[in-house]
This record gives sequence, C-alpha cells and structure tokens, in this order.
Amino acid sequence: MTHTFCVYPWIHSHVGPSGLVSLCCFASAEPRPELVDERGRRPNLQDVAFGEVWNSDAMREIRRKLLAGERVRECSHCYHKEAVGGSSPRKQANGEWLVQHPRAAELRARIERAEARGHRVEEGLTYLDVRPGNACNLGCRMCGGMASSFLAKDAVHATWELHGGAPVDELRVVATRRDGGRFASGKPWHRHEAELIEELLGRPENLDKVYLAGGEPLFNGTVAAIVEHLVDCGAARHVDLSFSTNLTVWNEELIGSLEAFRSVVFLASIDAEGATYEYLRYPAGWDTVVDHVERLRALPFVHLELTPTVQNANALDLARLLRFAELIDVPYSLATLYEPTHLSVHAMPAAAREEAATRLEWFMARSRLAEHYEYLVDSAKVLLADMRQPSPAPYRELMRTFNLFTNDLDADRGQSLAASCPELWQYIREDPDYTWTDERVYAPRAQGAEPAA
Ligand code: SF4
Repeated sequence: MTHTFCVYPWIHSHVGPSGLVSLCCFASAEPRPELVDERGRRPNLQDVAFGEVWNSDAMREIRRKLLAGERVRECSHCYHKEAVGGSSPRKQANGEWLVQHPRAAELRARIERAEARGHRVEEGLTYLDVRPGNACNLGCRMCGGMASSFLAKDAVHATWELHGGAPVDELRVVATRRDGGRFASGKPWHRHEAELIEELLGRPENLDKVYLAGGEPLFNGTVAAIVEHLVDCGAARHVDLSFSTNLTVWNEELIGSLEAFRSVVFLASIDAEGATYEYLRYPAGWDTVVDHVERLRALPFVHLELTPTVQNANALDLARLLRFAELIDVPYSLATLYEPTHLSVHAMPAAAREEAATRLEWFMARSRLAEHYEYLVDSAKVLLADMRQPSPAPYRELMRTFNLFTNDLDADRGQSLAASCPELWQYIREDPDYTWTDERVYAPRAQGAEPAA
C-alpha cells in the first residue's frame, strides 16, 4: 500500500445535500478538486447519473494516482491530520476495510481487478454516504444553508454566509437553476427517490454500510424511503446503518424499522450541555435532546455516540459534556471546527484556548472510556494539536468577525453570548488583544434596544 493510498475511491462515494458527488465527506473542494467532468465542473446528481461519475475519466485517474503513491488534491484533510501526528480518515478506512473487515480479501481483489481494467470498478458501492437535501429543523450557528433549510431562510445568517467570506452556497446555485438538470420535472435530485435508489442502491448485494445525514435525516422523506427500500429488498440484514442526527426529532416509524439492520449507529451532534448547547443549536431544547438520548439508550439494537463539533463557544465547556457522556456510558468522537474560521478555537483569547486544551488533557488522562475506544483518544489528540496550532488568520480579524457575527445573531435570535457562555465572555472582557464592541452589521437594532451582549 502506498503512503497516499485510500480504499474509498474503489468502494465508497459521498453525495452532499446539493447533489455534488465527492470521494468522501472529508474530501476538500478547495482550491481545485480533481473529481471533475470534462468541463472542469464537480459532478452533481442534478446533471448526471451516479454510474457516469463512478467510472469517469477523473475517477479512474484518481484511482491510478493513489495506487502510484501520488497525492490527490481533495485529500489534503487527511494529509494534514497525518502531519500533526494523528490518525486520519484515510488510515482508518484502509484499516477498517482492507485489514479488519470480513470482506477484506474480496475488496483487495476488487482493486486488482479494477487496475487490470483501466481502474474501472464494475461492482456497485460497498459504502454509501448520502445526504438527500438540506431539510432541517435547526439553524446551528456554525452550519450553513447548504445543510440547513432553516438557515437558508434565516435572513441574517444567510447574509453572513454570502458576504462574510464563506464560499457561495452551493445549494442556492442549484436552486436558482431553471432547467432542473437531467430531470424534466424541474425538482431537485433528492426528490427523485426511485432514480436515486436505483442508481445508488441498484446492487444491494454489494452494500455493507450506509451513512445518512442531511439536513436532519430523521426529518427527511427521502431518507425514510431509502431505509424502507433497504428493509424491503432484504439488504438491511447485511448493512451497517448510521445516522448523523441532531437528535431533536423523534421519528417513531423509522426508528421502529431499524431493528432489521445488521447494526445501527446514531452519531448525535451534541456540542455542549444546557444553555451553551441551546445557544449553538438554535432553537433546540436541552431537555428534549436528553430525553431522546435516554430513549435511544433503551433500544438494544442502537449504538449511540456523541459527535461534538469543537469551536470557540464550547471549547471551555467540553469537559462537562464529556463527563455527562461518560456517566451514561456513551462514547464520543471530537471534531475540530475549521470553517468558518471566526467560530473556530482560534477566535478566542489565547488564555482561554490554552485553558480549554489543559482541561481536555486533564479529562482525557482520567477518561474511563478512553481505554475502550481508540478513535476517542485519536480525536482528542488531533483536537489538542489543532488547539495549539498557530492561528490560520490574524487574531484581531478573527475576533472582529466573531464579534459582529455574534452581535447580529444574538440580536436576531434574542440570545446572548454573555449569558450562554459566561466563562468565554469573561475571558473576552479581559482580553488585552481585542476590545469587544456592540456593533451590528446585518441585524438592525430595534429602537431603544440594549447592546447585544
Ligand atoms: S484520503 Fe482522506 S480525503 Fe481522500 S478519499 Fe480517503 S479519506 Fe477521503
């Protein structure tokens, strides 16, 4: 195996909420992806059937490069993680599928067969990650309109997305098209359930793992149709199913049907406890999510994990959430938020960032679950390295953007950073390197209103 080799391009695909197909969910679209069509555009299921992407010239060239030990631009996330001494999705995928998996020998033979056929893979997907549209009930601060219909309609947040330095929202690019792509109906790709199921799940005998996200998957009719299809065609018994969910929605019918699957994992996006949680995942309620955690824990066929996204607003509180997880025996995997940079751990006073890192180290040294879950330790290691990396942008610039964004959203949502994240707020007030202001940009101040924070 070469040092750049990754098994995913032979077994897996990621389809994002706007229909864009990529190597995996970690593959970066910046600065110039290599999985493009002959006109240099990223493939989108609105325009092209999945089968045409799977063995396209670009896909076959990527397979060739990975076998030859060459780097692929999309995979910079993995190269970064490996450079800071952590594991990476690439290493984890290779270990999971080509070493530990019961079908490892078959998958290795598939790669050899494909090489003899000009890197064409005749088998269908073994592992599918699909996010059919952006239907979501929440407007989390760190998310965007591409993954949340709530945020796509949130005038203040959407304006920040368009003018605050974020890439133009891919979903809106698709939504403003008049031709409907390859579909005469003009409806978005994910509303064509029959075509989608045929293209992505047409060879269910090969399928081993399905990952469903959104948007919020428990809130999504296409997700329900995919689950129903896998149960009805009998594939469920050899499929490991996972959901990435905010766990604020309870879909009794869908959850009831999950017992048919070989295994079921719920990855719950819970970043903090109580008021900090509600601040980040607006307008979710902490009591509701705790109730759903308890209901899931009572189902013997469901494995639950917490997947906090670590950012400036929750970094100091992280140990409290992890203590909660360990008390109820629920493992967790920590993800660093890199974008938007003004919400990352670098947009917090240096003293607060170091305190957050020290607390995490202290907690991990005493973690009861660490010895049972290697990925948990690995994710903490990468997070600690990220926390202590130099900032990717000048500190004052990051804080200025965080300041204005926060004031706008707080005013619009009737929330307060000071009340929801009091420790971080104290550090900000004492920060010698940045002076917080009450200015707003896109949220007009109501007459006679108090300053935002
Ligand atoms: S190397 Fe990393 S980014 Fe590239 S396909 Fe594999 S897991 Fe995804």
